Amino acid sequence: MINIPLSRPDITEKEIKYVRQVLKTSYLSMGKALGKFEKSIADYVGAKYAIAVNSGTSALHLIIKALGIQAGDEVITTPFSFISSANCILFEKAKPIFIDIRPDTLNIDPDLIEKKINKKTKAILAVDVFGHSADWNELARIARKYRVKLIEDSCEALGSEYKGRKCGTFGDAGSFAFYPNKQITTGEGGMIVTDNKRTAELCKSMRNQGRSSASNAWLEYTRIGYNYRISDLNCALGIAQMERINKIFAKRAKVVRIYNDRLKEVSEIELPYISKDAKMSWFVYVVRLNKSFSRNQRNKILVNLRKKGIGCNNYFSCIHLQPFYRRMFGYKKGDFPVAESNSERTIALPFYNNLQEGKIEYVVSSLKKAIAKIGKGK
Ligand SMILES: *Cc1c(COP(=O)(O)O)cnc(C)c1O
Repeated sequence: MINIPLSRPDITEKEIKYVRQVLKTSYLSMGKALGKFEKSIADYVGAKYAIAVNSGTSALHLIIKALGIQAGDEVITTPFSFISSANCILFEKAKPIFIDIRPDTLNIDPDLIEKKINKKTKAILAVDVFGHSADWNELARIARKYRVKLIEDSCEALGSEYKGRKCGTFGDAGSFAFYPNKQITTGEGGMIVTDNKRTAELCKSMRNQGRSSASNAWLEYTRIGYNYRISDLNCALGIAQMERINKIFAKRAKVVRIYNDRLKEVSEIELPYISKDAKMSWFVYVVRLNKSFSRNQRNKILVNLRKKGIGCNNYFSCIHLQPFYRRMFGYKKGDFPVAESNSERTIALPFYNNLQEGKIEYVVSSLKKAIAKIGKGK
């Protein structure tokens, strides 16, 4: 039986060796691998500070806290993302204000932001969706004009660029994530990057129960904090992956080239869009059915592919339509039509470093058959 997962980590002997080395030391957490992993990310993206934590969600939460966002504040963000980019705002009892997306890049539409800004607005939190950079020049201009903070959820965009500059470095702080389906993995893990010393210190303190980072006083707590520490085992995995980063990106780009080539003549499908300002580091491979397809038809295609052993999914389901967001804020279908229309037509296909050409061809031919079975239009 064929089984092609949606995603799969790429672990070599190097990763195993580095993790094993940590296991033989006295420091399984807060040891040497932590600082080394942080430095590898800071150097790679060109940020002054990098603070590693146990997930991308923790990274976003600490950024929200460090920037002083609190109850009653509003944060402008996108409904077309992974749930935690909006949840991190709710953690501090601030309110996410959703803005619809651009139909090409699927990122927050800067043209719709300004009319939603008011006295309560404290920040804009934009996401580099699927690894495609948001419009950072425009977002930065708006953030400066209204003196609000700018936060980058670059959890899907390690290695991506906007106008030649690395994602993660555009706002007051940026975040990366290292769950096994991301460009690099630490098992679980995340990273905050910033050029601001105060933000870095606050995040460092809050990841470790709020201990003051300046004084090394044992068990002295300056503020409320969390246990968002990442173990050195995870960091060792991350160090090995960072040493292979260019190879990893090249493998992913190759998979995309093969998919694009085999799918370019399938008229029912739109291939991933890349704007001229963006350089992609591929996180996922998501195609969209054209507008004549309904959500129901898309779902039938997903079921059909899964029956053939192909991992696939809709990516994303809009955040504002999740049951608890509907309950809390009264959102309904039709509130963000561009996000909804695209969300109903997406198909994420199997995508990982070592996905072989033969398997890609199987996925493509199965997809074509599934589409033919549904027929064009409604
Ligand atoms: C993966 C991801 C995160 C963080 O995920 P964790 O599972 O907490 O590491 C945040 N935002 C986006 C857009 C993501 O894709």
